[in-house]
Amino acid sequence: MGVKIDPLKCTACMACELACGYHRDDAFALLSSCIVVYRTRDKKDYFGVILKQEEDLVIARPEGLEVKRIGAVEEGGGGDASAKPMLLREACDLCADREAGPLCRQICPVDAIYLD
Ligand code: SF4
Ligand code: SF4
Repeated sequence: MGVKIDPLKCTACMACELACGYHRDDAFALLSSCIVVYRTRDKKDYFGVILKQEEDLVIARPEGLEVKRIGAVEEGGGGDASAKPMLLREACDLCADREAGPLCRQICPVDAIYLD
């Protein structure tokens, strides 16, 4: 079971990114977050969310949800370059220390984050 994102509900508000950084560092430290909103320069109003798990990157784009093995991304098979900085971050621990479960899920204003 892991965190998943519904890209068609997501509004790129970044609340999950802030929440995850807070969960990691008790501060709004975006660089500590394992869930990240990204945009591209070449496509207007285009965005997605990337989540780092132990063995996979979960990439939610308007086209759909994609799960990539981290080894494949490291070898250059990961497609877009925005995924690569995620490899240095800690993996999602499902907010194991929280009784209420994933903080990102709790804070998402449009219920775009779910467990599957
Ligand atoms: S909190 Fe929800 S709507 Fe906001 S960026 Fe994260 S997944 Fe998208
Ligand atoms: S479940 Fe917790 S550790 Fe995982 S992405 Fe959400 S806030 Fe971050």
